[in-house]
Amino acid sequence: MDPLTRLQILSTDSQYDLACACGSGNHEHRKRTRDGSRWLYPVPLAAGGRSLMFKTLLSNCCVNDCKYCPLRGDANAERCSLTPEEAVRLFLRHHERQWLLGLFLSSGVCGSPDRTMDHLIAAAEILRRKHRYRGYIHLKIIPGASEAAMEEALRYSSAVSLNIEVPGRRHFQQLSDRKDFDRDIVAPLRYLARQTAPEGPFSRVRCTTQFIVGASDETDREIIRYMDGIYNRLRFERIYFSAYQPGLGAGSIPGERDFTLAPEDRLTREHRLYQVDWLLRRYRFTPDEMEFGEDGNLSLAADPKQIWAARHPEFFPVNANQAAPEALLRVPGLGPVAVDRILQARQIHRLTSLDGIRIAAAYRRKAAAYLTY
Ligand code: SF4
Repeated sequence: MDPLTRLQILSTDSQYDLACACGSGNHEHRKRTRDGSRWLYPVPLAAGGRSLMFKTLLSNCCVNDCKYCPLRGDANAERCSLTPEEAVRLFLRHHERQWLLGLFLSSGVCGSPDRTMDHLIAAAEILRRKHRYRGYIHLKIIPGASEAAMEEALRYSSAVSLNIEVPGRRHFQQLSDRKDFDRDIVAPLRYLARQTAPEGPFSRVRCTTQFIVGASDETDREIIRYMDGIYNRLRFERIYFSAYQPGLGAGSIPGERDFTLAPEDRLTREHRLYQVDWLLRRYRFTPDEMEFGEDGNLSLAADPKQIWAARHPEFFPVNANQAAPEALLRVPGLGPVAVDRILQARQIHRLTSLDGIRIAAAYRRKAAAYLTY
């Protein structure tokens, strides 16, 4: 197969890996660019607007047996690989045609974790050293990689990610016989956290991880408890969630066998976890404030902030002229940007309504029920 055909296969197989800026909302990660290039993913920029990420696997061969994964060793998949040089050439050819935000490289495990890491690192090194590329490079850390390999990856990367997949050893053991949760996931995550901490040698490198949601019988409560540890103890920058869709994996896992959620409900569950992620990171909520059903899961019917507001009528109404920012952030319909606008406006004049403050009409109407002036 020529390199472009292999790129088509490998970039299609990389779609389930969300640990880059792709996928922050609206299920963007499941969309492709309009020209149909499978390796270019739209990425929202922090400063507004959009760019494109070139995202592919270097290889879809894998010795592992993750039962949720369509690329596990015994699955019937069309296998191929790109050499580091081929991947760099393809990336640069696209980058010359149109500006790209950067490169996201991942891989199935070929031989051993460190041998796979060698290929990923080689591609990044060629880009940095030979082509003097200064842009964004995100490398996937392969489960079980040695500290030496991770250090090399950090040297050339703007961001790295290692997928935690599930909240804890018990769930992990249901999904893989070959990988070990503590050795292959927890120890490398802790190493990456130390290296990329503000006082660590690679503090400039972003660190992210991803859960696969619904492949095991984990509850949202368990995932959120782990999220809290990943943000507060490991100080990772982002966590991504990927709803498991039955049919991709082996039939013997809980997500295939026991779960009866419809495909759209699986996506809603993923969305609710993203909402909690925002509440913890940007709205100053704590995991203990989340409401769970008897089964330990978030409601699919309403968003968690709305549920918190319904359970705490004593907190409302909030005075828009006097309330602290953290109290305003608890008002349904108000996000960090809207709260900043309210704070600026009330420095200039006393508010009597949200009229004149740039907030979408639907959110303004929602917030009005919880505010006083
Ligand atoms: S390590 Fe597991 S999740 Fe990754 S490609 Fe191999 S089988 Fe799939």
